[in-house]
Amino acid sequence: MIPRTLFSEEHELFRETVQEFVQREVLPYHAEWEKAGVVSRDVWRRAGEAGLLCTAIPEEYGGQGGDFLFSLVVAEELMAAGATGPFFHLHSDIVAPYILRYGTEEQKLRWLPKMATGEAIGALAMSEPRGGSDLQRIETVAEPDGDGWILNGKKVFISNGQLADLLVVAAQTERGAGARGVTLFVVETDTPGFSRGRPLDKIGLKAQDTSELFFSDLRLPPDSVLGEVGQGFAQLMTELAQERLIQALRSIAAAESAIRWTIEYTSEREAFGQPIASFQNTQFKLAELTAATTAQRCFIDRCVELHLERKLSAVDAAMAKLNATELHCRVVDECLQFFGGWGYMLEYPIARAYADARQTKVAGGSVEIMKLIISRSILPERVWRRP
Ligand SMILES: Cc1cc2nc3c(=O)[nH]c(=O)nc-3n(C[C@H](O)[C@H](O)[C@H](O)COP(=O)(O)OP(=O)(O)OC[C@H]3O[C@@H](n4cnc5c(N)ncnc54)[C@H](O)[C@@H]3O)c2cc1C
Repeated sequence: MIPRTLFSEEHELFRETVQEFVQREVLPYHAEWEKAGVVSRDVWRRAGEAGLLCTAIPEEYGGQGGDFLFSLVVAEELMAAGATGPFFHLHSDIVAPYILRYGTEEQKLRWLPKMATGEAIGALAMSEPRGGSDLQRIETVAEPDGDGWILNGKKVFISNGQLADLLVVAAQTERGAGARGVTLFVVETDTPGFSRGRPLDKIGLKAQDTSELFFSDLRLPPDSVLGEVGQGFAQLMTELAQERLIQALRSIAAAESAIRWTIEYTSEREAFGQPIASFQNTQFKLAELTAATTAQRCFIDRCVELHLERKLSAVDAAMAKLNATELHCRVVDECLQFFGGWGYMLEYPIARAYADARQTKVAGGSVEIMKLIISRSILPERVWRRP
């Protein structure tokens, strides 16, 4: 196998800590969380104590002061173990960076230290019942009110939605202004006017508290704006590249685990008096999936290198997410086949991995939106721009 060159010894030592944490604090409780539709608050506090949250946030704001690679280790190890309930990556590497990059000193000091300990859980609220792909058409509205704002609207499919104490919310501050009318706000969920629906009943990610959120005449103080008024869409487009790269890495980690489980299972399980792995069909299929996953792993690790140098473009990130999530879904589907009927039973990790994988082609920008971003970068504008 082509060795990975991204990680230092320090990262690999941290990986061992994360693996131990997942074995001790996550896997024994995951089935319980799947039934509840939400992970425990306790696991967040423990992750904070173990230094697994906000790994790339500077120490002065309570984080671990590491680089983005430490974040990837946490995201990869949870995914490799099939632990899809705790969305630490969303909190630490998607929500916290918005506050770090666009927040004032006061906002950073107010929210980031609590996020690093797991005392405050973060979520990102962009998608709405009437549309998630077209972020310029957001209908949640923030209207000026004295020094502050009044927020009204609904968000849907929000990961960490039940537990969230802190939301980065995209809202319209100038109707009809398209991208220039979107502003990001930080909303504390104990503010009057905020409410949440039940955890949504999904086909997979059963322990993830994906939820609907409601804002009804919710009064926001002036310092709840994140960055500048009207800059929300540009901020989302900038930060989505990191979100998509993380998803690409998570998908490859999940695909590698699915292949590993299949090798183990087919080497033991027999049909017609011989291991399933002894059939050429099994060997060739596993070889094909391994070759495809290795190629994607190399491409995505290169994208990570570019990201560390601040050179990863939105188009590169879209290619990473498109390739990795399509491969992820293909791998879990084809691996499940080798488990026969047992592959359809949720007691087997491959069955849960299959159900968990499907959303990766939709959430965080669908594969079609990734293709839109890529095609626009390669075709002349006159071909794709609408009159
Ligand atoms: C498990 C899960 C977790 C999620 N977590 C979050 C979260 O934490 N925060 C958040 O804000 N959102 C979250 N989402 C929402 C997710 O980002 C949206 O579902 C996604 O962006 C698609 O939006 P939509 O569902 O409204 O589909 P729509 O926008 O209605 O699209 C429907 C279909 O049409 C296709 N389509 C749309 N426009 C085009 C076009 N121009 N060309 C071709 N095809 C097109 C789409 O690709 C899709 O296949 C989550 C979703 C899921 C399933």
